[in-house]
Amino acid sequence: MGEEIRAIDAAGADWIHVDVMDGHFVPNLTFGPPVIAKLRPHTAKTFDVHLMIEPVDPLLDAFIGAGADIVTIHIEAGRHPHRTLQAIRQAGRKAGISLNPGTPASAVAGVLDMVDLILVMSVNPGFGGQGFIESSIGKIAELRAMIDSAGFDIDLEVDGGVDPVTAPRVIAAGADALVAGTAVFKGGPDAYAANIAALRA
Ligand code: ZN
Repeated sequence: MGEEIRAIDAAGADWIHVDVMDGHFVPNLTFGPPVIAKLRPHTAKTFDVHLMIEPVDPLLDAFIGAGADIVTIHIEAGRHPHRTLQAIRQAGRKAGISLNPGTPASAVAGVLDMVDLILVMSVNPGFGGQGFIESSIGKIAELRAMIDSAGFDIDLEVDGGVDPVTAPRVIAAGADALVAGTAVFKGGPDAYAANIAALRA
């Protein structure tokens, strides 16, 4: 994994997006803070850590200590997202909030002043390689309007089914950060630079 991170860093990725899954909040299991700490030295780029875990609070300090620059939690994971976001910022990290495909944009209206990033899940979280969910476009546009009218400096990120076909559509809807797995890693390391360039184009 360290080699892969060095390869996508060299190929032009802006951030390293890390999907943490707990087999409880989402039906799959990846890894936790010790693995992230081992990966951290392989790049100087931003570690954008997406926590698909519930509860979040007992492990928050461990993820921050592992080297996460952005810590994104799910609005659906736990009753006190505002408090968790506050703790992330108090630790000097950027705080993000994510929404599952079935969660309306309005669900994050109450924490807009607490976040540096909003992450729209455009597939159901848990597995790579799924198709883009069309209703995400309207949700991205709605969130962009909420961010702009509130006047906050918040990145709007999209995760799931992003490829050279869907990328221009989510950008047009107001997204400014794209997460891609399949579209970057397909074809192996020799293809990473061209794959990232195709998304950027
Ligand atoms: Zn993610």
